[in-house]
Amino acid sequence: MTKRSIYKACAFVLHTLDYGESDRIVTFYTDEFGKLKGIAKGARRSRKRFANAIDLFSCSTITFSRKNNQGLAIIENCDVINYYSKIRADLEKSILASYFIELTDNFTVEGKKNPQLFQLVRDFLGLIDSGNNPEEIARFFELRLLKLSGYEPALERCHVCNTPLDKTEDIFFSPLDGGIKCVKCAQNDVSSIPVSIGTIKMLLMGKEIEISKIHRLVFSKQSLKESSEILGSFIRHILGKNLNSLQVLNKIRKMNM
Ligand SMILES: [Zn+2]
Repeated sequence: MTKRSIYKACAFVLHTLDYGESDRIVTFYTDEFGKLKGIAKGARRSRKRFANAIDLFSCSTITFSRKNNQGLAIIENCDVINYYSKIRADLEKSILASYFIELTDNFTVEGKKNPQLFQLVRDFLGLIDSGNNPEEIARFFELRLLKLSGYEPALERCHVCNTPLDKTEDIFFSPLDGGIKCVKCAQNDVSSIPVSIGTIKMLLMGKEIEISKIHRLVFSKQSLKESSEILGSFIRHILGKNLNSLQVLNKIRKMNM
């Protein structure tokens, strides 16, 4: 019989599923193993055993065992590092955090390690938890996640003819091609969305700026609308669906306006 090996990782809960009488299957995003599925035995019978560690977007140190470094892991132990209480106390923040988690889940596959993506989730949940909740945060998360997943949109020059951003008057974003286009190249692309240069410049700044300085970038109303539209349509095009949490978030934000 193959022996089970014991591993340790830092992990966020992406989602959970009830299993059998008393167990729960938990999907984590970990620093060392990427996306990982494990069974938390007895999690529904005894709340004490895993405490808050297997609630959505909790961050914990998990100890698990599995055979041959693959297959369903058995979660042996979880120690909560951050439960994000301030996020959980605020409906809008909770949904925004759920959106980040849903995006991470959709853009990752099991067993593929990406420590930078793990750090991105950690940094941005930290930003929401520390009180920053403007809409810009969601756009910068989307942009950075796209980049780390290999889908970075081309925003610096026309995707087709290479005309630089500053040398073109009207620009468009093409969700099909994942980049901006000048007016000439956008003519035959019915999917292309008009966008202002100011919006693209803000996104380019938000893509690179240090996390501690991110709150300095404040979008105009027009830029908020445009950036949400172009990144949203690009993500929808890649995933082929709308994400539930984003729809709920948009509804709540409209109600609060
Ligand atoms: Zn062009």
